[in-house]
Amino acid sequence: MNTPIKPPTKGARRIPEPFRIKMVEAIRQTDESERHVALEAAGWNPFLLRSADVYIDLMTDSGTGAMSDSQWGALMRGDEAYAGSRSFFRLAEAVEQIFGYPHIIPTHQGRGAEQILFPELVARCAGKQPVFLSNYHFDTTKAHVEIAGAQAINVLTPEALDTTTPYDWKGNFDLVALEATIARVGAANVAAVIATITCNSVGGQPVSLANLRATAEIARKHRIPVVIDAARFAENAWFIQQREPAWAGVPIAAIVREMFECADVFTMSAKKDALVNIGGLCCFKDNVDLFRAVQVRCVPQEGFVTYGGLAGRDMEALATGLHEGMDAVWLEYRIGQVAYLGERLRAGGVPIQYPTGGHAVFVDARKLVPHIPPEQFPGHALACEMYLEGGIRAVEIGSLMLGRNPATGAQESSEFELMRLTIPRRVYTNDHMDYIADTLLAVSARAAEIRGMEFTYEPPVLRHFMARMKRR
Ligand SMILES: *Cc1c(COP(=O)(O)O)cnc(C)c1O
Repeated sequence: MNTPIKPPTKGARRIPEPFRIKMVEAIRQTDESERHVALEAAGWNPFLLRSADVYIDLMTDSGTGAMSDSQWGALMRGDEAYAGSRSFFRLAEAVEQIFGYPHIIPTHQGRGAEQILFPELVARCAGKQPVFLSNYHFDTTKAHVEIAGAQAINVLTPEALDTTTPYDWKGNFDLVALEATIARVGAANVAAVIATITCNSVGGQPVSLANLRATAEIARKHRIPVVIDAARFAENAWFIQQREPAWAGVPIAAIVREMFECADVFTMSAKKDALVNIGGLCCFKDNVDLFRAVQVRCVPQEGFVTYGGLAGRDMEALATGLHEGMDAVWLEYRIGQVAYLGERLRAGGVPIQYPTGGHAVFVDARKLVPHIPPEQFPGHALACEMYLEGGIRAVEIGSLMLGRNPATGAQESSEFELMRLTIPRRVYTNDHMDYIADTLLAVSARAAEIRGMEFTYEPPVLRHFMARMKRR
């Protein structure tokens, strides 16, 4: 079943922002010649631009959201005690209430949770060739799996690869592939199954509760621990409420509890749905032994177990943000705003991952600039054009990000060539969405003239961050 996504309207009326603005931050538009100079100085790599030279910044939704008056108020209550901070207990209470996980470790961000959890899961894995299986490993997740000495294998539903055909659950596990992969590598070698909700890398696409439950059942049958990578847990719950008939009308809070029933542990980048600028979590449902072992790893890497790299005030803002992020009115507006941008682009003939996901619109560069081959980075070329055209900073998700095979040095072949327009939370209005759409439509009108890119400096690893390029 495919449910068309709703643009943010109630009847004929567009839903306005469900907040009013109490503090403003000026942004500066530049002219085209200034942008040329800035992009040239940045080696044609938007990562190297100064934010002051960017008009609308769509590089990421991570840590870029606006905190509420309640969160700013909560900052003042922060208890900066090194051990046993009141703010830690307030955070622990929020986590237990929302997710039902009584054992919590705060971390400096999502990857902090990954770096203390994964080595412990590998150490407990009976097999000699540990692997992690996921619908899709986020890039830092894959990196930490590999640093822990394991291999990351994705078993994503094939519908996700086809951007144009609508499908409600492009974040789902391919259950047949999951079973087959467990059989192939041997259950003893599977350190964990990681469910990424929503599935960031394919467009913020949701995982259904039915799929999550079936995944957990398969894992449990083989005594494999289940980890939820929970960065966008609230957006995923909203999609379940809207699209999964069994959960229509069920409160977001109840759906969140059901989702987390499926796992044993969750890691979270709190910089996304939890609406803070920095923070993360690593939480355990009932495996106290694993929790204690991960606490031991936390101390030297993140900090003492009741602050994990965060200030007391950060934990206060996070405890508040977890609740705010689950508000149904907020989620309807949030996901509706992304859908609205997507609809405007589709109406103008721009190919996008459809339906749009929770946090971003993914433009299919392979389709928009088909004359640019993958090794000339079509998604990156488009991102440069978005900046030149309108001062908008977007990011490539494709061959440039994927990089080379470390053994052979050959460019890895990417399943996607995308440009991601990531929408920060509570930062830009629907008028900004119109400006973004107008800019991309102007770029799209001259798509045939857009040129590919080549390196002038190619870093050996994580090259997309520091690469310098030029137009061909
Ligand atoms: C952002 C993100 C992470 C990593 O979190 P950081 O806070 O950036 O360290 C992990 N998984 C997913 C799905 C993410 O979106």
